[in-house]
Amino acid sequence: MLLLVVLTLALGLVGAGFAGVTITVFLHRGITHGAIDMRRPLYELGRWMTWLTTFMRHWQWRRVHRKHHLYTDVWIDEVRHDPHSPVVIAEREGIDGFRRVAWHMAAIFHEEAKCPDIVDTTYDTAADRPLDGLDRLLFDRPVVGAIVAGLAYAATLAVAAPIAIGERRTVGLEALCVLAGVVALAIHIVLLLRFGGAINSDCHRGAQVTPGAGYAKNVGILSFLIFGEGEHLTHHLHPQLARISRHWDLGWRVIQVLRALGLAQVAVERESVMSR
Ligand SMILES: [Zn+2]
Ligand SMILES: [Zn+2]
Repeated sequence: MLLLVVLTLALGLVGAGFAGVTITVFLHRGITHGAIDMRRPLYELGRWMTWLTTFMRHWQWRRVHRKHHLYTDVWIDEVRHDPHSPVVIAEREGIDGFRRVAWHMAAIFHEEAKCPDIVDTTYDTAADRPLDGLDRLLFDRPVVGAIVAGLAYAATLAVAAPIAIGERRTVGLEALCVLAGVVALAIHIVLLLRFGGAINSDCHRGAQVTPGAGYAKNVGILSFLIFGEGEHLTHHLHPQLARISRHWDLGWRVIQVLRALGLAQVAVERESVMSR
């Protein structure tokens, strides 16, 4: 049984890892900032992966994040504001904004998605690929994506676990594997929320405001843990760079592979903008 627990944990971790790569490469550096120019097959893969691993609508993520860059750590009114600034939340609501953002990004995102400037095309640009029938039919249903992911986890465990742990297939064991699939999905979602929250909370704990970047700061350990995203101040100052962190940028390594495969081009090389 210990092996089943280990397998479940490993699957949830791998799924969360795919979600992290999808967010940093496709959603963040790709469709939001245009730091990489993606060929059509990569765009297709990206929106499928967004649906299957992040359980978000790719166009909403793009709009909310562009809004974060426009109003970083600033509140003007109910429409014009940073969607998830821990500093603004603390000031306006009198609560621990860092804790709120660290653990409740899903609720914050869900609420922000109803804002009129996110619903309409305020933050869209002419370079954005227009939404199509597949977006409206399938990718507009993130809960269905989560159910499909859960079924994939359960099916993988139901097929592989009895072989891996060397036990005879029984109805009881298969039912246990299905339950383990649900647990793997839960691990995946918790990791996704916590690490997404870490970027938007811990990376906005700077001691002072940097013009154009709010309280953004670089957090080395998060770059290691979250595919290079921890160098957040650098990113706010240079969002056009495909390579965010000089060290430990796994997202950049993935982009290098995609570039070698002819699936992506890099708009601006880091070395041409920054000396280190
Ligand atoms: Zn930020
Ligand atoms: Zn960004």
